[in-house]
Amino acid sequence: MTSDYNHPARRVYLDNSSTTPVRAEVLSVMLPFFAQAFGNASSIHRWGKEARVGVETAREKVAYLLGAEPSEIVFTSGGTEADNLALRSTARLLKSKGNHIITTAVEHHAVLHTCQSLEKEGFEVTYLPVDEYGMVGVESVAGAIRPGTILISVIHGQNEVGTIQPIEEIGRLAKEKGILLHTDAVQSAGKVPLKVRDLNVDLLSISSHKLYGPKGIGALYVRKSVKIAPQITGGAHERGRRAGTENVAGIVGFGEACYLAERELPEESLRLTSLRDRLIKGILDKIPDTVLNGHPSRRLPHNVNVSIKYVEGESILLNLDLMGIGASSGSACTSGSLEPSHVLLAMGLPHEVAHGSLRMTLGRMNTAEDIDYVLEVLPPIVSRLREMSAFSSLRDSRACEEGHGNVQ
Ligand SMILES: *Cc1c(COP(=O)(O)O)cnc(C)c1O
Repeated sequence: MTSDYNHPARRVYLDNSSTTPVRAEVLSVMLPFFAQAFGNASSIHRWGKEARVGVETAREKVAYLLGAEPSEIVFTSGGTEADNLALRSTARLLKSKGNHIITTAVEHHAVLHTCQSLEKEGFEVTYLPVDEYGMVGVESVAGAIRPGTILISVIHGQNEVGTIQPIEEIGRLAKEKGILLHTDAVQSAGKVPLKVRDLNVDLLSISSHKLYGPKGIGALYVRKSVKIAPQITGGAHERGRRAGTENVAGIVGFGEACYLAERELPEESLRLTSLRDRLIKGILDKIPDTVLNGHPSRRLPHNVNVSIKYVEGESILLNLDLMGIGASSGSACTSGSLEPSHVLLAMGLPHEVAHGSLRMTLGRMNTAEDIDYVLEVLPPIVSRLREMSAFSSLRDSRACEEGHGNVQ
């Protein structure tokens, strides 16, 4: 096989947890909303009404994915803003009731860094530990609740290692104690059933570009009985919960993506699970000294995360890219050194094992042939890197300066 960068034998995109392409059906419903139905959805005239219909139809479709009422959907600029809105709004509105927030050590940075920012404002945050599979225990949530607890925020499907948290049980507990529960379900949406009434959640974040919709649009589900303080102020858009002229085309595309995801979920979820398991088994069988990260069964259907010992994740990524395969690693480059992921460290992985982590996230374009290609290409890459590392210590800093490996 050649390793000409511009002509790899095959192109296999396995970074669908970072982002996904816009589906053709989604793009085609969006297009009329740029230049024809371009009105401001707040305007009274026919142009405005046309845009408004687009927005409200999309809201129904997003609600359909979540089993929610359309009025419970607040459009935001994406998953990050939805997380910020959930946390900051609750903190501000319930300040008089208490200042304690419970979250986990394995949240996405959109939650983690928001919690850290709230700590600077005087809130107290408990970051719950997780077990070796990245799971948080319901008892540990129960044990952290105290009189001033106003919010629990636990990720639904973990974006790096794919572990699915026991949200339903945590939801029952939160309900019993009268504490609001938020979940970041960005990775789970369209991959596993996500009905807000079954989950017992009050607030739930999703993002369009993780499920074949456009970037820059997302939503926060807000249970009917829960009040929300806008974090972006201005006009009375989104029933006073998020100001700013609606991203009409984005919203329309997002709605269609949610509708299609929900319709295809049972079949697509099984298909992805089978590809996932084929890839996991192939790697563990063909490459010695590899371990699966994350839960073996309570796992997102599209997530594969393995640690390949004695090699740097970054070096594998660069070599996979040469062969036309796009993946990601669990390391983020900070100040010229490779920082292993906070998620893998929270799971108790030693630094050197966390460094060799490789995340491959499947999507609707992937086929069994793609998996076979990876299983053909990856083992020799690993052998070669292991031979090289026997001679010289790995050049972390060089791989890092090139800026690879941020996990979204
Ligand atoms: C991608 C992601 C986000 C951020 O969503 P954006 O729409 O990119 O802002 C938040 N949480 C999780 C778990 C994600 O995977």
